[in-house]
Amino acid sequence: MKQHDAMYIDGSWRPAEGGGTIEVVNPADGQVIATVPAGSAADVDAAVRAARAALPGWAATPPQERAARLAALRDQLVARADEIAATVTAELGAPLAFSKAVHAGAPIAVCGSYAELAGTYAFEEKIGNSTVLHEPVGVVGAITPWNYPLHQVVAKVAPALAAGCTIVLKPAEDTPLVAQLFAECVDAAGIPAGVFNLVTGLGPVAGQALAEHDGIDLVSFTGSTAVGRKIGALAGAAVKRVALELGGKSANVILPSADLAKAVGVGVANVMANSGQTCSAWTRMLVHRDRYDEAVELAAAAAAEYVPGEKIGPLVNAGQQARVRGYIERGVAEGARLVAGGPEAPLEVGCYVRPTVFADVTPEMTIAQEEIFGPVLSVLCYEDEDDAARIANGTVYGLAGAVWAGDEAEAVAFARRLETGQVDINGGRFNPLAPFGGYKQSGVGRELGRHGLAEYLQTKSLQF
Ligand code: NAP
Ligand code: MG
Repeated sequence: MKQHDAMYIDGSWRPAEGGGTIEVVNPADGQVIATVPAGSAADVDAAVRAARAALPGWAATPPQERAARLAALRDQLVARADEIAATVTAELGAPLAFSKAVHAGAPIAVCGSYAELAGTYAFEEKIGNSTVLHEPVGVVGAITPWNYPLHQVVAKVAPALAAGCTIVLKPAEDTPLVAQLFAECVDAAGIPAGVFNLVTGLGPVAGQALAEHDGIDLVSFTGSTAVGRKIGALAGAAVKRVALELGGKSANVILPSADLAKAVGVGVANVMANSGQTCSAWTRMLVHRDRYDEAVELAAAAAAEYVPGEKIGPLVNAGQQARVRGYIERGVAEGARLVAGGPEAPLEVGCYVRPTVFADVTPEMTIAQEEIFGPVLSVLCYEDEDDAARIANGTVYGLAGAVWAGDEAEAVAFARRLETGQVDINGGRFNPLAPFGGYKQSGVGRELGRHGLAEYLQTKSLQF
């Protein structure tokens, strides 16, 4: 596996100031596949200085030229898609077909969308006797997780660059190799030195130093609600902008008129994708009492098809594997009924968890409230639509969700009642231009499309 024992700062690969390293492990077999530098506060400082020095030039670069660089970056991602997929499979464990389609494919779509938006967005508008200028926020500090390791990087870097911001990225320690590959793509795309900088390292060290740095104007974080809360507090104290994409516990609401087999099949696939490590996963399935038993049977049968090591990969590391198995034990202890899977590891080697379905889950149970981040589905029963809405809205989260009904208008009417940032109607497909982000404790701000671009802009009004 290709690796750099250096960090991409100010347009070149530089060794870390401290000597620490991080081992990158393949969770499918436990083998160490690479080591990367563990950046320190001094490395973060060097990267932030480079980004600040590059800011005036990049902010003044015409949007059409920024668009051309983003198009070149997209072309790099296309040219290296197989390498990207293989890298994500090695460091995250995702099956190769999924890595190709999603881990390599989604960043290409998102990067392409910002190449287009940079060239067409109205960075100036007239409002009465004013001209409003939409100017870059400044230097961005981006902290990303491991679950969609390149998508989450591109969902921050592409809009930041489109807006005219410069950026320092601290990727997750579990998945730094695809971030290094991305830095090579940025370099090959002719993006000027200092505009994008990469510091690999540990969250509480490099991540914290980045969030605290007074040379950063906006911190954009994706990850756990626990860390997001800390980063929000730091940003608040420093009066700097912050964007948070946090956890979820999304509801898949199947109304009585829905095509039950389709709704359950798509719902189980949604939870099992990426081994359940998806913040927007529909981890609670809500089914009317009259169709509940049938739905549970269908869900158990669908989950059984996800054979560990074949159709479903391992979790990212042994810590996550232990955490998810702990949640399955907790579900059993609280009285939920296991209908597929269970806490035992399915394979002797690798961080695998059995695809698990719980029936008879009640809304106050831990497995109905907390983000598990593994292949675990909770099936809950509701009495009527009011009850379904109450249960669906009854968590601290509000990131995504789904509604299924025989008639689209009926599904839309129910979707309007949901306190959540996205709802897929009767299996509607992912839209890389639609705003993505959370209500309630799922976050602050939106990513993707023009709403995501606006996060990296601030306004100045000129009156005439
Ligand atoms: P995490 O700790 O929130 O990691 C996200 C990013 O924040 C990583 O780059 C991490 O670095 C960094 N970080 C950690 N502590 C930090 C700090 N004090 N200051 C600044 N940055 C810091 O998430 P995790 O531990 O990897 O996963 C734990 C749980 O979070 C999961 O089980 C899941 O429930 C949730 N999660 C949610 C999402 C999502 O997309 N919403 C993504 C991942 C995880 P390191 O990589 O070095 O830790
Ligand atoms: Mg962590």
